[in-house]
Amino acid sequence: MPKGKKKPMRMCVGCQEMKLKKDLIRIVRTPDETVEIDHTGKKSGRGAYICPQQECLEKAIKGKRVEKALKQSISSDVYEKLKQELNSVE
Ligand SMILES: [Zn+2]
Repeated sequence: MPKGKKKPMRMCVGCQEMKLKKDLIRIVRTPDETVEIDHTGKKSGRGAYICPQQECLEKAIKGKRVEKALKQSISSDVYEKLKQELNSVE
């Protein structure tokens, strides 16, 4: 067995597959209860992870999985913003 660091894995809130954390986008609920994309991965707050794909965002929206993961209700404005940000990532 080669030793070395275990790569961190996170579950996408859209497709619910385990992926490498670095391949996912972190959505964070900040301490002042806004929800935004954390490009640095270092913002404090509760986080959810999603693949950088519209498809996964759609699934996450339909299943209200981002809300569940963040324990925070999310307005359609925020989702619009997330969609736009995902577009800019692709
Ligand atoms: Zn996904």
